[in-house]
Amino acid sequence: MNKSSRRVLVGGVLLIGTLVASATALMWQDYRQTVQQNLRHLALLAGVTQAYATQVLDANNRLLDRLANDLTTGGPSHTAGLEALMAIRLEGQPFLRGFALLDTQGRVLLSTTASERGGRADLSRLTALPPPDRSMAVRPWVAGLTLTGSASMPEGVGFIPLARPIPLPGSAAAWLVAQLDPGALLPPFADPPEAQILLTLSDGTLLAQAGHLPLGPGVSVTPHPAFARSTPPRGSHGALSLWGDRHVGAWQASAQYPLVSVVEQPHAITLQQWLAAQRGPLLLIGLATVLIGLLTRLSWRHARARERAQQELEAAHEETSRRGQQLALLVKNVQELIFRTNLHGNIRFANARWQAITGESARLARGRYLSDVVLPEHREQVAALFALHGELGVRAAQVSLQSADGQVRVLDISVVPLNSRDGEIHGFAGSAVDVTDLLAAQQQLQAQLTFTELVLECNPLPICLTDTEGRFLTVNQAWEKFMSLPRREVLGRRNVDFLPVHEAQAYEAHTAQLLREGGRVSYEERLHRPDGDVRDVQITKVQLRSSRGESLGILTTKLDITEFRAARDLAEEASRTKSEFVANISHELRTPLQSILGFSELGILRGREHPKLAAMFGDIHAAGKNMLGLVNDLLDIAKIESTVGAFHFERTDLRNLIQDVAEEMQSLLQRKRLTLNMRLGPLPLFAKVDPLRFQQVVRNILSNALKFSPEGASIEITAGLEDASALHIQVRDHGLGIPPAELESVFEAFVQSSQTRDGSGGTGLGLAICRKIIAAHGGRIHAGNAHGGGAVFHIHLPTASYSETLPSPLT
Ligand code: ADP
Repeated sequence: MNKSSRRVLVGGVLLIGTLVASATALMWQDYRQTVQQNLRHLALLAGVTQAYATQVLDANNRLLDRLANDLTTGGPSHTAGLEALMAIRLEGQPFLRGFALLDTQGRVLLSTTASERGGRADLSRLTALPPPDRSMAVRPWVAGLTLTGSASMPEGVGFIPLARPIPLPGSAAAWLVAQLDPGALLPPFADPPEAQILLTLSDGTLLAQAGHLPLGPGVSVTPHPAFARSTPPRGSHGALSLWGDRHVGAWQASAQYPLVSVVEQPHAITLQQWLAAQRGPLLLIGLATVLIGLLTRLSWRHARARERAQQELEAAHEETSRRGQQLALLVKNVQELIFRTNLHGNIRFANARWQAITGESARLARGRYLSDVVLPEHREQVAALFALHGELGVRAAQVSLQSADGQVRVLDISVVPLNSRDGEIHGFAGSAVDVTDLLAAQQQLQAQLTFTELVLECNPLPICLTDTEGRFLTVNQAWEKFMSLPRREVLGRRNVDFLPVHEAQAYEAHTAQLLREGGRVSYEERLHRPDGDVRDVQITKVQLRSSRGESLGILTTKLDITEFRAARDLAEEASRTKSEFVANISHELRTPLQSILGFSELGILRGREHPKLAAMFGDIHAAGKNMLGLVNDLLDIAKIESTVGAFHFERTDLRNLIQDVAEEMQSLLQRKRLTLNMRLGPLPLFAKVDPLRFQQVVRNILSNALKFSPEGASIEITAGLEDASALHIQVRDHGLGIPPAELESVFEAFVQSSQTRDGSGGTGLGLAICRKIIAAHGGRIHAGNAHGGGAVFHIHLPTASYSETLPSPLT
């Protein structure tokens, strides 16, 4: 929230606060006044009640005095006369129950109530103390209805006795007594609807009450707060705030009589009165609060809107100035020349690019003409750009100028007239781009395209370029000739439109594969040419892509392999025939060789006595054995070459296979006192191999090492993981080694190294067989020379993931 809206809000809240606070203060003041006023009113009521009771007592006392006077002076002397006099006085006094005359023993001498006459009153009930003199201390209130009746009257019934001693002729003293009804003491108006009026004796005995209390006369109300501390002194008065009961009131004590009047009222009445008086102001305050609240809200929203508008304005200013800066920066650094001229083409502003083009500072451009800087032959073109008549839109021209370094640069200039509001041209804005390099690049590209086209055209292979839907974009001459279709007939049409159904299907399938997988697709196909000729072709398809990766089309090359295929088939046939021939011959040779070996062994045995003969048979036997070795090897090669899937691969730990071969060779090793060191590692070396074939390889390598090692030397076999996918086995000896130039040729059939050719007795087929076997396992075998002399043979094999479905090797 911003300053001004916050000020409005705080102001509004303060105003409402002040209003509520002052209204509360005023109302409190008013409330206090209402309470005071009510208390005054109650005090007045208490005073009036007390005065009325005093008056009633005074009046009745005076009446009694008069009667006493009547009775003592000049009244009739006989009883009946006296009683008649009393009855006369009683008349018109509704609150006096009767008059009676008692003697000092309490006997009723005369009474206005006939039934009491002759009866006896209990004087102790009437008087508080024995009379000290003539006067009689009368109890202020006596329970009971009559003077002579018993004291056990129902509660709340009683009278106020008024007594006078009077002298009677012929008798000692007598008492004139009047019985006053306590109800007479309450003023007739004292039946207020809300206030409670109590008239009590000063000791708290209730005499009369007007109100709704369930109390009768004679009951003590001393727990009442008016009597809480002590008997109220005569003539005193006071106010009561009975907050516990929620009552307020006032009391007053009579000066002449032991009477107290108490007036009280529920506090709720005061509150109601006050509230009734407050309704108007409260409504006004409420309205004012709501009004101030609404005004505050309105002003706040207004202030907010103003602030927001202000903020937006500031942001817009900031954005404008930022954009202005960016634009200035852009204009300054843009690679185009940007300029503005007056009506006559006189430059008023040019950006920094001016310097790059003309070689002079951009500040000096002001006041120059563009026609001054271009080559003379282009001045007219430039002048036409700034013509005041003609086209109103953009005008363009391509002109040249000589730059500061002496080179001729080509500029593409665009100029647009600037119109004032009345439509008059008042200047020009323009831009110029240096297109020298672009033009050069275009020319270079054009040359490249021409060259490419030429290469395509001259290529002897039939080549075509199609889009991804198979529509011809271009074909070369060779293609036209091979397909016997002129290019004008095919361009824009689809390749499959010219092909027989099955060729079209194959074509589409390969195109789909290429588009799916990318790269290149190559396959062989038999094509039926329109002239009926059938050709075998190798088709290669490549997807061409732009530098942004978009597909530009598919380049298809056709290579006629009809002759090549025929030659290959022939060669394969010859090779197969050769293998079969070798296999047959080898097989046929083994039978007679076995006989020669058998007979020569017999000859050696028989010729033991004739050493010469035995030696001859020995030679025959050795030669026969060599021959059998050769024949076996030949048969082996023929087998490997001709059998398809004759290998039985198993997942095997190579260490066991190597160890078994080493065991086999123990006696041969010992004969030459050779030591065999094996480092096969602690972990299994699993590979998918044909165990017998693999052992054949190890056996061959190891027996070569053994053969070419000097006596007492050592041979090392090391095996381990080369990486996650390959195993590496090395066999190293300390023999003569193999001349570097022959490291590969020793793997060819019948080839032996120049070092060992003299009489090692081998056939030169062992390593050739090893290479074929290892290749059939998907591996590699090669030879090398170790540091410090000796040959080392390396075998690399894939680890066990190697598949059993490997195709068999071809020669
Ligand atoms: P063979 O041992 O029967 O002649 P091979 O194909 O097994 O046939 O070996 C071909 C030739 O490679 C051998 O004649 C020998 O000249 C050379 N050669 C093979 N192993 C070794 C070796 N460990 N040390 C030196 N020359 C070797």
